[in-house]
Amino acid sequence: MRLRRKSVLCVFAHPDDEAFGPGGTIAKLAKRHRVYLLAATKGQAGKDRGRRATRDLARRRATELRASAKILGVRKVFFLGFADGALSNNLYHRLAASIERYARRFRPEVFMTHEPRGGSGHLDHIAVSMAVSYVFERLPFVRALLYSCLRAERARALRKGYFIYVPPGYRRSEIDLRVDTRDVWEQRVEAMQAHASQSHDLKRILRFAERFPKEENFLVLLKGARAGLGRAARGAAARRMLGL
Ligand SMILES: [Zn+2]
Repeated sequence: MRLRRKSVLCVFAHPDDEAFGPGGTIAKLAKRHRVYLLAATKGQAGKDRGRRATRDLARRRATELRASAKILGVRKVFFLGFADGALSNNLYHRLAASIERYARRFRPEVFMTHEPRGGSGHLDHIAVSMAVSYVFERLPFVRALLYSCLRAERARALRKGYFIYVPPGYRRSEIDLRVDTRDVWEQRVEAMQAHASQSHDLKRILRFAERFPKEENFLVLLKGARAGLGRAARGAAARRMLGL
């Protein structure tokens, strides 16, 4: 049976979360589906090539994200306009409403976002993860939610010398879906390189990535009768749904 083309809405906190995170999977999905990307902020609180940011960093990073997304095959990028580093409970429903607006427009069958502990542990990632989960529950047409997560070994290695606390990653037995990204590795590296203002991070991340298998990991939430499926069945359902 031919796989029906679907819409996938990826929601991340910052420009570069897509390429430095599940960029390989995004590239694979974009070959068969319509992939859209929402960035909650423009990453304006970050550093610029390791130096303190100036005022036009937001504009630069937005341009970099558009370039990265294009390399990955994403159809369109939207910025939700929140301030970097400022996502909080106060903004919960504004953030959720803004995600919901795009979801109603594109009617994705699948959402992708940060896992609930925020991957690297950035509080903006956690806020986005919660808001996306909230919207997922509200919209019946979104059938699956993919939480991009780190393997335990990776999280442990990342924790050394990282600027914030990195929560524990997930053991192999806790992961629902593993995506082999060897075939899109070059594309993902190119997308990472598009984030030139983050070159101080890029070298470290690339060196780091070489040490681990070229695969990306996800927790999967499903709905209705399939919500109660076991781990392997959840992963298989997501794989089938997306042709991964
Ligand atoms: Zn981020």
